[in-house]
Amino acid sequence: MRSAAIALVLLWWPSGLLAQGGPSPGPSEMSLQVDLREAPRRIFHSRMRIPARPGQLALRYPKWIPGEHGPNGPIGDVAGLVFTASGKRVPWHRDPDDMFRILVEVPQGASEIEAQLDLISPPPETRGFSGGASASARLAVLSWNQVLLQPEEAAPARMRVSASLRLPARWKFATPLKTERSGEIQTSFAPVSLEELVDSPVLAGEFLHEIPIGPPGGAPHFVELAGESEDLLHVDPQLKSQWDALVVEAQLLFGAHHYRSYRFLLTLSDDLAHFGLEHHESSDDRVPERVLLDPDLRLSRLAGLLPHEFTHSWNGKYRRPRGLATGDYQKPMRGDLLWVYEGLTNYLGNVLAARSGLFTADQARGAFAFSADMMSAHRGRIWRPLADTAVAAQILYGARDDWDSWRRDVDFYLEGDLLWLEADTMIREAAQGARSLDDFCKRFHGGQSGMPAVEPYTLEDLVAALSQVAQLDWAGFFRKRVFEVAPEAPLGGIERGGWKLVYGPEEPEFHKSFEKARKLVDLKASAGVVATDDDRMVILDVVPGSPADKAGIPPGTRLAAVNGRKANGDRLRTAVADTARAGKLELLVENAETYSTHVLEYKGGLRYARLERDGSRPDLLTRIFSPRANAQGR
Ligand SMILES: [Zn+2]
Repeated sequence: MRSAAIALVLLWWPSGLLAQGGPSPGPSEMSLQVDLREAPRRIFHSRMRIPARPGQLALRYPKWIPGEHGPNGPIGDVAGLVFTASGKRVPWHRDPDDMFRILVEVPQGASEIEAQLDLISPPPETRGFSGGASASARLAVLSWNQVLLQPEEAAPARMRVSASLRLPARWKFATPLKTERSGEIQTSFAPVSLEELVDSPVLAGEFLHEIPIGPPGGAPHFVELAGESEDLLHVDPQLKSQWDALVVEAQLLFGAHHYRSYRFLLTLSDDLAHFGLEHHESSDDRVPERVLLDPDLRLSRLAGLLPHEFTHSWNGKYRRPRGLATGDYQKPMRGDLLWVYEGLTNYLGNVLAARSGLFTADQARGAFAFSADMMSAHRGRIWRPLADTAVAAQILYGARDDWDSWRRDVDFYLEGDLLWLEADTMIREAAQGARSLDDFCKRFHGGQSGMPAVEPYTLEDLVAALSQVAQLDWAGFFRKRVFEVAPEAPLGGIERGGWKLVYGPEEPEFHKSFEKARKLVDLKASAGVVATDDDRMVILDVVPGSPADKAGIPPGTRLAAVNGRKANGDRLRTAVADTARAGKLELLVENAETYSTHVLEYKGGLRYARLERDGSRPDLLTRIFSPRANAQGR
């Protein structure tokens, strides 16, 4: 079974190492011992035994990290690098042209070398993906790729790794890896390919609960919940039943799954970086620690995250754009189809959140209004096509907030909501309700249930698969929506879905939770500014063409006063609301060492985007959000 699976993976990666005419080594095996006992001090220790021949051995530190779509391997945080052969120190040097390549002189007679290294894990709240803050005093997330070097010539799918792990006293752990031996001192995992190891992170900590979710029978699913203290980890029966429904709804949507079991490694901590990272059989989901106690955090930071990362097991891990299915960690990834990988996942994640009850229908509409409003405000769309936000993902993920709406951001996520809603409603309309994007998902992402596998696709494959569901001009649709400059956000899906994007003074719950959870004042649709909602009131962004822009307000500055009084979030919101009654809006800005006063020509009051029903068209949106379990038709 296993060797067959490995052969298939190689077949599916024709653009990987082997197809480049590089050396084609036989299966090789290395061992890796990781010691997390000093994780609370944010240093991870690692030892490896790597097969070698006398002469120069080239080793690689994983650089391009699957799911992060960028060269994010934290090579700068590697310390304590020492090599030995038969107990004697062996010299090494770094390739001056490639910071991730380490060259070791293997002495005569040696058949392996021992390597040790430490990963310096960043301090609390350091932002980023897996290279961001990953350990606190009471828990840690281990991404194996950060604590190993691999022989350059070995393809990750063919390299076998026997990994083991030591933890601080009383810590428990969760991972998709199978435990082979569990002793007092360390746990040994069954050998797996390097590819599977890197795809199988470990969540460890003092407070860790395993919650089985989903229906009985079939592949097991779990939420592995870790936090900074026991009292933060209470999952109420409603949330548990929504997670149960998520598993059911995903199975109904895709019709098959490509994992043996699935684990949400859900970390509740304010010390760690917050993000979600997908794997075939798990996801690394890191959220604020009070997420189960605070309804705003729960709606804004948790409800949609698990459906998104779960969807990736099908869309992203199993079906993967060819440019992202490189088969190793050194070859640059091409993000040109991230509007499918992430964009379709964002859409399906929102749909699954609605179908499983994690979002109410009103909250789900709020999510789409939010995306539509944000994409309308990103005026950089007059110069940058959506496709370029995907190609440039590796530089946009780290972009600052200032002039965000002019630069454009990783817009393929939120514009993906609008793009794929439009595709879904186009299919529904063309098929008069007999087919939908669900049928595409079954064809494209379903098939036979079984082991994790990668099946790469191209844009042509995507167009062909959509055409089998509905005979429409998909190539023309994507050309217009994705590859050409499109000054206005695409609202066709909302409209064809029987709703309209409207603006008014009432703030939808979804937007209010976003502001509270992120501690922001988001007035993009009215005054045209976004600021932090704290004592400093940093002006993060100014929307080009907005009243704030016309008044010359510079982003990256501090808002010092609103209408002559010290600025805070409530005063700013109230002052903007009062403009509707002919009030003035005068902002004092602290631009480094200089103060300046800006009068905004604006009388529109508060404006927030929401969806309003259009009675002249059928309500497809509500149909899309309805659970499939026990449902008749679409
Ligand atoms: Zn994603």
